[in-house]
Amino acid sequence: MPNATARLMSLNGRVVPYDECQVHAFCGAMKYAAAVFEGLRGYWNEARNDLYVFRLHEHLQRLRYGMRVLRLEPVFDEAFLAESLIGMIRANDLRETVHLRMIAFLDGDDELSAKGPAGLVCGALPRPRSRAVREGVHVAVASYTRIADNALPPRVKCTANYVNNRAAELEARRNGFDGVLMLTDRGKVSEGSGACFFMVRNGVLHTPDVTSDILESITRDTVIRLTSERLGMAVHERAIDRHEIYAADEAFWCGSGYEIQPILSLDRLAIGAGKPGVVTRALQEAYFGIAEARLSEHPEWRTPIYANA
Ligand code: PMP
Repeated sequence: MPNATARLMSLNGRVVPYDECQVHAFCGAMKYAAAVFEGLRGYWNEARNDLYVFRLHEHLQRLRYGMRVLRLEPVFDEAFLAESLIGMIRANDLRETVHLRMIAFLDGDDELSAKGPAGLVCGALPRPRSRAVREGVHVAVASYTRIADNALPPRVKCTANYVNNRAAELEARRNGFDGVLMLTDRGKVSEGSGACFFMVRNGVLHTPDVTSDILESITRDTVIRLTSERLGMAVHERAIDRHEIYAADEAFWCGSGYEIQPILSLDRLAIGAGKPGVVTRALQEAYFGIAEARLSEHPEWRTPIYANA
């Protein structure tokens, strides 16, 4: 039974019913977690009667980069990846805001050193804006250390990385928090289990730099650009300490799935006034306006699905 997932999926470039989107239980992805994935969003715009995939090119580039890092063969070209995803969306005739999933994985039943054949799965599920975006979240620092770059590749969405994120997330949920913030093996702030961290302090936006074992997040890049373009505010990408966050005026985290969620407290200590901050709200407004095609800026970030059909 489809778990709220759209009726049709895409498997190796073919549109198939949800129940037929299957791989062998002994494939390399199952045995060795040799897989890399993407989570994207498609935003429905009622007035324009179209669905806009946000930053498709950047997501497909990162998926290809992830395939190279995992040495999967062949690395699918961007046209094949885009056609598989868009073909699946059109076949389902999706006309609501959705979360899109793509997984490139090691198929076949070979040993640890196998590189191919690579397979590709694409699917979609309806996902309207969350309550966390409106109301904010309470976060804890994890007792688990974030994976280090010389152990696993944090910069790509490799499936194996998420054993670490999941352990941290489950711990935070057990303890009654909405989410988790992980620290690097050097004790610096890294990121959430599915989102990148930002804080505002003394009129400047701060975020962990790309050597803080973070995913090179596409939403992080969007936020950095919108902060200077629309708010005229400086952004510092640098190593951040845990105790600096307690002194922040506001904080939020962001990701394609999370979008932009205010962080109200860390370790049960209120951040600023303990409410969504003005910078966070201004960035949300810009982000949703652009992603949902209500604002005209950055048309290069939006791929309309039906206008070009
Ligand atoms: N960090 C992690 C660990 C993630 O899984 C995600 C979600 N992809 C993000 C950050 C945010 O990345 P993006 O903005 O590219 O979705």
